[in-house]
Amino acid sequence: MTVTMDKIVSLAKRRGFVYPSSEIYGGINACWDYGPLGIRLKNNVKAAWWRAMTQLRDDVEGIDAAILMSPEVWVASGHVENFTDPLVDCRECKARFRADHLKGDPTDENTPCPNCGRKGTMTEPRLFNLMFKTFMGPVEEDANVIYLRPETAQGIYVNFLNVQTSSRQKVPFGIAQIGKAFRNEITPGNFIFRTREFEQMEMQFFVKPDTADEWFEHWKEQRLQWYDTIGIRREKLRFHEHGPNELAHYARAAYDIEYEFPFGWQELEGIHNRGDFDLTRHQEHSKKKLEYFDEPTKERFLPYIVETSAGCDRTLLTALVDAYRIDEQDGDERTYLAFHPTLAPIKAAVFPLVKKEGMPDIAHKIVDELRPYMEVFYDEKGAVGRRYRRMDEIGTPYCITVDTETLENDSVTVRARDTLEQDRVNLSELRGFLEKRIRP
Ligand code: ATP
Repeated sequence: MTVTMDKIVSLAKRRGFVYPSSEIYGGINACWDYGPLGIRLKNNVKAAWWRAMTQLRDDVEGIDAAILMSPEVWVASGHVENFTDPLVDCRECKARFRADHLKGDPTDENTPCPNCGRKGTMTEPRLFNLMFKTFMGPVEEDANVIYLRPETAQGIYVNFLNVQTSSRQKVPFGIAQIGKAFRNEITPGNFIFRTREFEQMEMQFFVKPDTADEWFEHWKEQRLQWYDTIGIRREKLRFHEHGPNELAHYARAAYDIEYEFPFGWQELEGIHNRGDFDLTRHQEHSKKKLEYFDEPTKERFLPYIVETSAGCDRTLLTALVDAYRIDEQDGDERTYLAFHPTLAPIKAAVFPLVKKEGMPDIAHKIVDELRPYMEVFYDEKGAVGRRYRRMDEIGTPYCITVDTETLENDSVTVRARDTLEQDRVNLSELRGFLEKRIRP
């Protein structure tokens, strides 16, 4: 069974995960809206990350910095000067590409245009800055230009000492943040893989310089392992080490975690040893000391930073693609999403077998009892088999059916999405039964 992006995009739209943004106006390129199930899935991705990165550790604090920052930040960070992609145009079909995405040198006459296929039609590469600009205040002049942040990391660096002193953390410690970032990508695409507005889940870990390599290894392993806790198949993930020509200007070492999407192996997350590049630059530009004083050794130094930078929307796409399954049930094709229970937008659906004999009342009562503890859904429409299929398709791990036996002995059928096994569970034990199975 091959998963195609068409199938994912169509299911996502039909079932309310992701819609094209501003659709009634014909959409806007590379912008997407999350629907009722999409927002639940997204919140679950973020909650799983936040839990692993902050709740389960005592050495990482969270923050939520503003999207709009002093324009000086982006000069210091190198984004004004370096956050560029080389852009080329096809002289024939006018399509625009990133020069580093072409099959061959753009100036070579044998390099084909990925759109029209004609050779030797590319313009010379021009550098294009990916930051969105806008104006702060009522006057639209150069002095008032500010940027929409292209990454969340800078909000962490500039708050390094604020967080360290207010939380009384000692190096080594980290700061985590989830938030929107904006990049005017030249070639966005592949659904929500590359968009112009997206969310990042970033963590910056501040360490003594001579321990950076060890921490880098630690975080590489931790981050790969995290994908296992949200159910992503290990064989679809791999590390890609950046060679000397790929390293960003700030990085001393970098690994990507890649996932095998229907369109090939692509980056899901970056893990970087950034050295003291960021704090040095902010110290120089702000003229504020950002050194850390280590009490036991009486040393003063700029910590090195090990960064883990994941995309929330990309993780969500990974979850959708990785969970997509088709099997055969009673001669019929069944499409289901085998989400890990942690990510499943709805944890349990409750059905009365028929709309009589008081079954709907009992089912409503079950929903009311479970609702404070998990996302549940009530459905009484259509044959029970169809109701199961509707839940399979959105990845609901458990379906609970109230039937005639319920009227006799207060037990219900609990059907598991992947194995289709059915358990008979007493109503008094139902919540515990489900909680044990959906707990992260
Ligand atoms: P690329 O080389 O593919 O443009 P990058 O190396 O610039 O990506 P980073 O700056 O390391 O990406 O960003 C960290 C993470 O943020 C990425 O691994 C990805 O998950 C996410 N991300 C970056 N750009 C986008 C985008 N345009 N749309 C969605 N997610 C993105």
